[in-house]
Amino acid sequence: MFVVWYWQLAPFCGANLQPFHAVKLAAATRFVEQDFFRAFDLAWITMKKMPDAYHQLLDATIQHLEELKSRGARFVSVAPENLAALAQAPAPSSTVQVSPPSPQRTASPGWGELPREPLAAKTIPSIIPNPTPPNPAKDAAFADLRARALACVKCPHLASSRKNVVFGVGSINAALMFVGEAPGADEDEMGEPFVGKAGQLLTKIIQAMGFSRDTVYIANILKCRPDTPGQSAGNRKPAPAEMQTCIPYLHEQIDLIQPKVLVALGGTAVEGLLGKTAGITKLRGTWQTYRNIPLMPTYHPAYLLRNQSLSEKRRVWEDMLAVMEKLGASISEKQRNYFLKQ
Ligand code: URA
Repeated sequence: MFVVWYWQLAPFCGANLQPFHAVKLAAATRFVEQDFFRAFDLAWITMKKMPDAYHQLLDATIQHLEELKSRGARFVSVAPENLAALAQAPAPSSTVQVSPPSPQRTASPGWGELPREPLAAKTIPSIIPNPTPPNPAKDAAFADLRARALACVKCPHLASSRKNVVFGVGSINAALMFVGEAPGADEDEMGEPFVGKAGQLLTKIIQAMGFSRDTVYIANILKCRPDTPGQSAGNRKPAPAEMQTCIPYLHEQIDLIQPKVLVALGGTAVEGLLGKTAGITKLRGTWQTYRNIPLMPTYHPAYLLRNQSLSEKRRVWEDMLAVMEKLGASISEKQRNYFLKQ
């Protein structure tokens, strides 16, 4: 066994993922979560007899790897022979009959029940120019910005209460950038934005659009978790002075990334970026402009967790469809119809 950077395996988890590759990858992967792999071994045996189990296992594998990655895993260990096998085209197997996946739609799907939309070949280049020309000056400027943000003590109360500065995550060449409010406890712990419950929902929304967390960029108005002295749980909205102090880092991030489209998640993000306090209910779904970049305000995923109604999910989804259109991404009939009553 030896360790490979998780990112080396990333192509197998996106557009190029072949079912055989994913299963071999899962078979090859030995990560800390032994229970998953014990379950995997059992499933592997079952799968040979039942093609449907194969697809369930494949979905579970992909989901598990994505969860590991969203929780900060950066590498997995893979046996050399498996790594070599991963690079080969899948061979037809006599033992495993692979039937086409049959996504199950309910009349009112939740984000979790959305069928995984294949990453359309056309979609990826519209999100990250492919291949992205090397830009050492941009890389260096971004690294310098990150270093400055990570060392920031401009809000002494937040600097002393934080575990991590939550700078941002994703591709610095992304065409699509999401901006949230501020890190919560999970994000403070992991040093990565949107990894808690609301973050998992955001990840599902991004995937439903046909993208991944790697191909977009995600950041917050505030890079430190707002402190809650005397409270053992819960979050608070950033104070105006904290927003004013921190926002220059975000302005610099956006200036360097130059996304084609921005999505502001919730009222605080809209207020921080545009100075508008009209309220997210009024602004969502209406195109705005931030320094010549089209900006779509939409509800924060935490709101969708509190309000599970189909109509609110559909509103957010319509905002995302508008974003995909603006990006020139392909939209399937299935995607157009998510959260419509049938
Ligand atoms: N909510 C946010 O606005 N940002 C995060 O990073 C997590 C939750």
